[in-house]
Amino acid sequence: MTIPMSVPKASNERAQELRENLQEIRQRVQDASASSSSGTRPKLVAVSKYKPSSDIMVCYEDGQLDFGENYVQELVDKAKELPLEIRWHFIGTLQSNKAKVLAGIPNLHTIQTLSSVKAATALNKALASSTSRTSPLNVLVQVNTSGEDAKSGLSPLSSSSSIAESDLAKLVKHVIANCPHLQFQGLMTIGSLELSLHASETEKNADFEKLRETRDLLQEWLRGEEFAAKAQWGSAEHGGNLVMSMGMSSDFEAALKAGSDIVRVGTGIFGQRKMKEEVKAERVKTAVTV
Ligand SMILES: *Cc1c(COP(=O)(O)O)cnc(C)c1O
Repeated sequence: MTIPMSVPKASNERAQELRENLQEIRQRVQDASASSSSGTRPKLVAVSKYKPSSDIMVCYEDGQLDFGENYVQELVDKAKELPLEIRWHFIGTLQSNKAKVLAGIPNLHTIQTLSSVKAATALNKALASSTSRTSPLNVLVQVNTSGEDAKSGLSPLSSSSSIAESDLAKLVKHVIANCPHLQFQGLMTIGSLELSLHASETEKNADFEKLRETRDLLQEWLRGEEFAAKAQWGSAEHGGNLVMSMGMSSDFEAALKAGSDIVRVGTGIFGQRKMKEEVKAERVKTAVTV
């Protein structure tokens, strides 16, 4: 059994910087969502990958409860030493062999990157035998709206294709019908960096439009399917509707205007991240000097 370590404190200067950044992002989220159509309050997930637990504590003490992490081990380590009230969102590449470890995190709130039947089955099974969790784990299915090879996720839907035959519908049906320990809540996309950086203020972002169209088609399809009529799906906070997670530091305002319910902001709150290699080298160095 590991005893939780106490988290080192951020310097006063760093704490002030984080609180100011958080305040600014909150204000921008509020301003952008005031002009959107969805009506419900969007959720801000602070993406803390590569950032120390001391940074997370500052945001937590400032009222931020939702945090996103990309790497399973980093998430496990942070979840162990940080408050249980934190709602962790896993937003990294999901591998079936990590299902057990993830299912063991008591305050893992949502997996936003589900994209295979195999991973859903593995997660459901691991959750069934997990003693550290009582409520179902929320999942969002990742959609590769930009069609880039390097991005994970399933193909978006279009009105001309057969929805029931799509990988997306098959996965969603599997989760709703066969995975009682998972709660299907909606869809997530990352989108192309190109589109997000170069879209002008007025121009619509094609990735966000595609996720929205996919969400609408999927929701309409689910409403007509018997397996779905008997089950719970969607988000309780959003009146049983499917939610969309889209928008990062460079494009969350455009995403909110397109109807996003969850934005994932890292750099805008925590500043630039180091490269993976630098972080690794630093860990090795501390391990040696301590
Ligand atoms: C890193 C990451 C983010 C945050 O990106 P920023 O540009 O730093 O805001 C959001 N979503 C996913 C899936 C990420 O991997």
